[in-house]
Amino acid sequence: VPELPEVETVVRGLQKRVVGDTIESVWIGDKSNLLKSSALEIARVLDGARVAGVRRMGKHIVIDVHPKPRASAKRTRSKRVAAAETTAPRTAQWIVHLGMTGKMLVTTPETETEKHTHLIAQLASGKELRFVDPRRFGKIWVHESDEGFATAGTEPLHITLDDFAKLFRGRKTPIKSALLNQKLLRGVGNIYADESLFRAGIRPRRRAATLTRDDLRRLHAAVQEVLKEAIAAGGSSVSDYVGAEGERGFFQMQHRVYGREGDPCLVCGTAIKKIVVAGRGTHYCPKCQK
Ligand SMILES: [Zn+2]
Repeated sequence: VPELPEVETVVRGLQKRVVGDTIESVWIGDKSNLLKSSALEIARVLDGARVAGVRRMGKHIVIDVHPKPRASAKRTRSKRVAAAETTAPRTAQWIVHLGMTGKMLVTTPETETEKHTHLIAQLASGKELRFVDPRRFGKIWVHESDEGFATAGTEPLHITLDDFAKLFRGRKTPIKSALLNQKLLRGVGNIYADESLFRAGIRPRRRAATLTRDDLRRLHAAVQEVLKEAIAAGGSSVSDYVGAEGERGFFQMQHRVYGREGDPCLVCGTAIKKIVVAGRGTHYCPKCQK
């Protein structure tokens, strides 16, 4: 499952490959459960649009586009409408959530179209940007408004220690659940929550409100460290996500607790335990984490 570091890696790959290009036409498949905007709306925004930028917001890929001006509309409408249109947002967002198995591939038109390809954007450069998703938990939509696209929560990589501490104040839920709560931090998934809690020496079931200032300082540092390391690990294999081949799965960071149930802790040798917190498999060292 692509988590924040994988999405960041995909975003960086797309930044290098498609920014500045123009979408000449869009083909959209018939699997409408993937689409949060109608196929018509998506095509209207993307056809002829220039790709101005690609960024990550939580686990969303946000592609900023400058839609093609619709000259025909102005001729038939009143001056007032035309004036309003000039102040209308000239940037729209194409948003992609990779779900469980989604991929964004940049290919040549000759590259064989993989099974489960749901969208193909033909670019002026001759490349194609394709969205492939076998399990179809991914989502695609377009967003047009003055405010731009925004999701709840704060970016874990940018949050200050003070703001981080405020998120957990008075919360009676286990700290692991709070880390996974997308309304607090956007994009921290199960693996990185476990790894962060291990590095900070905090048990996943501890009530969030009981964390001391020192606990919070260690956890804040650990979350950022774990995510940055994972991004760095993925950075070298960007072509595996968005390259023409794209067949390789997501990289595996060296996990210290995640998926290591029963294996010796890398610090103290105690067997790693697996429990369920917030409905998710949770791994921790009973000795190192308090
Ligand atoms: Zn240990």
